[in-house]
Amino acid sequence: MPLLLLALALGVFVYFVWRARTSSLTRDCRWRQNRSEGLWRCAYCGAEQAGEVMPRQCLRGQGDSRS
Ligand SMILES: [Zn+2]
Repeated sequence: MPLLLLALALGVFVYFVWRARTSSLTRDCRWRQNRSEGLWRCAYCGAEQAGEVMPRQCLRGQGDSRS
């Protein structure tokens, strides 16, 4: 059915738009490497991520914000 194919294409399109919007938030994130502690810290939201490579996404809203 062409309608099913159209729905699938629409779903993929929406997914990519959603992904682009999500990744655009990364620009607000200011990751600063803390080599002494071996982690990256976001100066914008205070999120922390361990590793050598700079994180791509903002972790704001995750973690200790929920009670
Ligand atoms: Zn952040």
